[in-house]
Amino acid sequence: MKNIRDNCAIAGVYSKTADIPQILLNGLVELNHRGQEGSGMILANGKEFKMLKDSGLAGIVFSIKHSLPDLDNAFVGIGHNRYSTSGSLSEVQPFLENGIGIAHNGNLTNVKFLKEKYTIADSMEAAKSDTRVALAIINKMKGDAQERILAGVKELEGAFSFIFILKNSLIVVRDSLGFRPMSIGKLQRHGYVVASENSAFKSMGAEFLRDVLPGEVIKIDENGVNTLTMMSFKKLAQCIFELIYIARPDSTVFGIPVMQFRLKQGEILARHIPDVDFIVPVPRSGISAAIGIAGSELAKKKGIVYMDGLYTNPYRASVDGARTFIRPSGRDKAATEKYSANEQILKGKKICLIDDSIVRGSLRLVVEKVRKAGATEVHALIASPSLTHACYMGVDFGDAELLAHKMPDLEERKKYLGLDSLYHLRYSELIEVVLGNKIKIDSPEVFSENNFCGACFTGKYPISIKGAISKEDD
Ligand code: SF4
Repeated sequence: MKNIRDNCAIAGVYSKTADIPQILLNGLVELNHRGQEGSGMILANGKEFKMLKDSGLAGIVFSIKHSLPDLDNAFVGIGHNRYSTSGSLSEVQPFLENGIGIAHNGNLTNVKFLKEKYTIADSMEAAKSDTRVALAIINKMKGDAQERILAGVKELEGAFSFIFILKNSLIVVRDSLGFRPMSIGKLQRHGYVVASENSAFKSMGAEFLRDVLPGEVIKIDENGVNTLTMMSFKKLAQCIFELIYIARPDSTVFGIPVMQFRLKQGEILARHIPDVDFIVPVPRSGISAAIGIAGSELAKKKGIVYMDGLYTNPYRASVDGARTFIRPSGRDKAATEKYSANEQILKGKKICLIDDSIVRGSLRLVVEKVRKAGATEVHALIASPSLTHACYMGVDFGDAELLAHKMPDLEERKKYLGLDSLYHLRYSELIEVVLGNKIKIDSPEVFSENNFCGACFTGKYPISIKGAISKEDD
């Protein structure tokens, strides 16, 4: 169960033989878990652009509200699914200005300084979101579109995976710290695709080719896929929350198969399993870890089995939007309304709820439901450390809304949630999931030492966040 918004999704296609808008739509639908507030695309045919965007899921925007955009002989296109870290819903991407279209996944951390340096007043259109600021700065640079992009991205700090569309090509950029994933695929027929996650490739008709490297700027055109430049970096800060929650389980992110990661989280959590009858995942975010626990030798030895004690009404999900996490309002209500606690399973039983993380604490309402359904003891194992700090790099939670920020004491949180016991995976255990071996010291530094960002758990940000616009600034 999640009720915070996650990242945006971006996609791109270059092909002289394929149906560009249909491939983009297929990709955006597969990536809707990363953003549901709006969807858009830009096509180009070497001479002109065509843009269409609106609020809603990709399928609704391009099948119900509108039909797919049509541009004769289009051979290049970009798409975007929006969830907002900052800016209003009118900021549905992509944006197109001065011969450059932009789709952005992430959040800039120096946007306040950039506005000052380039005199972008808050009243200007260009100031409405960090993505617009990035495009405005790029267009203030000298040269043709490609030269402006190459010069402009050097000014940017923070999390950014960009796909730019020019009249004849795509330019793909991933920030030097590698916060957000981005992969390239090869179409079965001539051409290439780019997407936030490689799980989108199958329905785009493409095979995974490779990841875009941190700091890499790539051009895709009639000459194929070519690296234009590599921006320098010292250490990576790949977002570990992508692996914990954001990415689809059938994606491979930062070279790590996401489902394997989540099963392993469960195996490690199994060390801490209390004496209960069943483990019950909070759907859907707790399912993979719960399967990992159930498959562990420790759970088998104790005779603890997996039970679907919470039923999720798929019809309500279709009304609410499948991921409560990324809905902008009414999240706690939606988070609990969609669950029904199954008395046939829970009555008279001791259970342990499994979830990937605790954000605002709406788990409390789930605990109430399972107790009402007759559970005699309710414990919880959480597959990540306590979320204590805001993310300024593209995931939507501010300090003030995090339960563990407001209530740092674990015992107090356990009582607030109505639990008999509560365990969070430790920093070192989470990194053990990545490395496959135990780490002796449980310090916040284990994330940076292993090329990950874990700032929302530790408060140790891998870059300065002084120039970031947080959601509290909106
Ligand atoms: Fe990811 Fe958390 Fe770092 Fe944000 S703060 S980039 S959510 S690990």
